[in-house]
Amino acid sequence: MAQQVATNVHWHDGTVTREERKGCMKQTGGTIWLTGLSASGKSTIAVAVEQVLCQQGRPVYRLDGDNIRFGLNKNLGFSAEDRAENIRRIGEVCKLFADAGVVTLASFISPYAADRDAVRALHQEAGLPFVECYVEVPLEIAEERDPKGLYKKARAGEIKGFTGIDDPYEAPENPEMLIPTGDKTLEESVTMVLEGIQANGLLD
Ligand code: ADP
Repeated sequence: MAQQVATNVHWHDGTVTREERKGCMKQTGGTIWLTGLSASGKSTIAVAVEQVLCQQGRPVYRLDGDNIRFGLNKNLGFSAEDRAENIRRIGEVCKLFADAGVVTLASFISPYAADRDAVRALHQEAGLPFVECYVEVPLEIAEERDPKGLYKKARAGEIKGFTGIDDPYEAPENPEMLIPTGDKTLEESVTMVLEGIQANGLLD
């Protein structure tokens, strides 16, 4: 994990309390962390949930694996070290959005439990909601879907270190939400996530 490098830097508190922020935003923000194999449905679900909440007038924002790699994390690859740094930075960004009172939908494969737990700890230390949502699908179904053709490439040896093929995926042991997309429609998955968001104290 990253070490503090800069010295002579001091935390400067603001005066807006969390309650005041909640009053402005008219909701409790927090992070919904969607984890799962590639093609499990994380991005598709997040896009649909964001649309529903936006139409309800909710401050909501989506952070998505590939998108973040075009900008903030464009200098990171897929080694275990880079994957960890990728998730660490995303976790910090989620924490900022959550602190700002936004419902933040983070869809990242995030295959290592330790990295996800670190993001959870970051939120807990700050008193911010963190809801782990395991978007579960059998590997065979993910491979059948293969919307980006990535499994095909990984099986052909054209992509190395692909999660589920030649890189591990550590399934969450106690996620707040479990969405088995192999036997659910997209609408059912979206409804489950929306209910889970409410049940875990966000939006109130
Ligand atoms: P990920 O973001 O996890 O890599 P994507 O959202 O890009 O996955 O792709 C998932 C694919 O699975 C999409 O083509 C989507 O239409 C399909 N799909 C089928 N059933 C579901 C479901 N219940 N929930 C989400 N996606 C589903």
